[in-house]
Amino acid sequence: MHLPLTVGSLIDHAERYHAGTDIVSVATAGGIERTDWGTVAAHARRLASALDGLGVARGARCATIAWNNRRHLEIYFGVGAGGRVTHTVNPRLTPDQIAFILGDAGAEVLFFDATFAPLVEKLAGRVPGLRHLVLMDGRDDDAAARIEGLAFYDELLARGDRGHDWPELAETEAAALCYTSGTTGAPKGVLYSHRAIVLHTLGGNQPDGLAIRARDTVMPVVPMFHVNAWGVPYIAAAVGARLVLPGPNLDGESLVRLIDGEKVTLALGVPTIWMGLLQALEKTGSKAETLQRTVVGGSALPPSMIAAFRDRYGTELIHAWGMTETTPLGTLNQLLQKHDDLPRDAKAALRQGQGRPPYGVELRLRDEFGAPVPHDGQSAGRLQIRGHWVAAGYHGQEGGALTADGWFDTGDIATLDPDGYMTIRDRAKDMIKSGGEWISTVELENIAAAHPRLATAAAIAARHPRWDERPVLIAVPRAGETPDEAEILSIYKGRVADWQVPDRVIFVDALPLGATGKVLKTVLRDTYGDCLMADTEE
Ligand code: ADP
Repeated sequence: MHLPLTVGSLIDHAERYHAGTDIVSVATAGGIERTDWGTVAAHARRLASALDGLGVARGARCATIAWNNRRHLEIYFGVGAGGRVTHTVNPRLTPDQIAFILGDAGAEVLFFDATFAPLVEKLAGRVPGLRHLVLMDGRDDDAAARIEGLAFYDELLARGDRGHDWPELAETEAAALCYTSGTTGAPKGVLYSHRAIVLHTLGGNQPDGLAIRARDTVMPVVPMFHVNAWGVPYIAAAVGARLVLPGPNLDGESLVRLIDGEKVTLALGVPTIWMGLLQALEKTGSKAETLQRTVVGGSALPPSMIAAFRDRYGTELIHAWGMTETTPLGTLNQLLQKHDDLPRDAKAALRQGQGRPPYGVELRLRDEFGAPVPHDGQSAGRLQIRGHWVAAGYHGQEGGALTADGWFDTGDIATLDPDGYMTIRDRAKDMIKSGGEWISTVELENIAAAHPRLATAAAIAARHPRWDERPVLIAVPRAGETPDEAEILSIYKGRVADWQVPDRVIFVDALPLGATGKVLKTVLRDTYGDCLMADTEE
């Protein structure tokens, strides 16, 4: 039997077999709303029907600028299963970038949370194709007075039919659209087919993958505006998991309240979120009793974090890697049977890496000329990936994004061991090339992060008259601490080769962060990239 792999089939399953499982959603205005999969499905059907009523065509881009909440979840399914494209937009980008992205995508509808009304006011009129602006709430006369032609989500739903049938779709049609966060260049659009989303749902949720099941209460802290919240909304529907959607408040204490109050068993997010959570757990004295697992990814994991969760709270921390172009799950770190008897430290060292590919994706390493690099756990090369949910090209860009033999080059520099355990060494654009030899900024940062008087640090390549580039460490001291340069540099002794020790440490109050919380090394290089050019001797 051939049935198309569609987003509609995921929400149909949740509606048929898990209708009564609740969805907990923190409202933008505060307070908790409780709904369930049956109601989410009914609302998704109403929304698809209402969009028909507005004359929004098949394949149209319906953008969202919204927190993780139940209306956003309804839109994911109502738009995608209804034959249109859910185009999530990251509100932390600048208004210029957002206007560019909406225009580039050809967005016709924009759903937004009240938080972002001031942003939408600035956008109105700048995106010519945008025909419908929809506030994700009930009627609000003040907002209506400020934004011309504003519609209201709850009123729109009321006009839709809850018995609406999904249109028949080909699994190769697009269901979602995300833009890369632009850490290393201009944002680029990645379209996800229904098929890619469903295969990512099945592949990413295998037992050695996310392994989410109906008995779980899952809290995606990773935003629904960032690579489909790592696919969690789709996976949760496929297995009927209970969802906790944390809304706008992502500070540690709000998350602790939700974890304890709603008995969250699995939470997912970027390292900075978990730093905040660890501090809040300590402050509140919560033991996060129900939290069995957290999944962390998006940027490198601070070395002490796995141990902190394991030893203080009995929570297993699973490191994962992915990117917008890979829907996003590419690797997850779970141990194998043969690792059972390894000493604790050796296990911890293995788990620090980004993990192995699940069925559905393959990884390989290539050097800068395209020649194979051995998978020996030592040799670093450009990480390339192919698989059922890897993008072949970017929206609106001519030509594909693949190598001649059909692999996607991630722009990451990594090692792979014979079992397929991958460790990111750097992003190709961030690596430091000193006198023809490469230095990994991640390695320098991990060593700095262990210094008790530093809060965080970033290593960058600074131009150098003799060596082309040399490492410079931009360091943020812990509150109340005033470490000096020599003391910071002394921790590198014996840990890296002498020629890899940074030439200089520059202390700053904070590091510049991009829209997804990653350090903007481009900005650091612009600011400090010439700081060594005055040094002529050496
Ligand atoms: P952008 O490329 O604009 O940062 P993405 O969100 O697609 O946007 O980021 C993907 C990149 O994030 C990866 O190529 C990799 O460099 C980095 N990344 C993702 N997960 C991890 C991880 N667990 N450890 C280190 N780097 C990671």
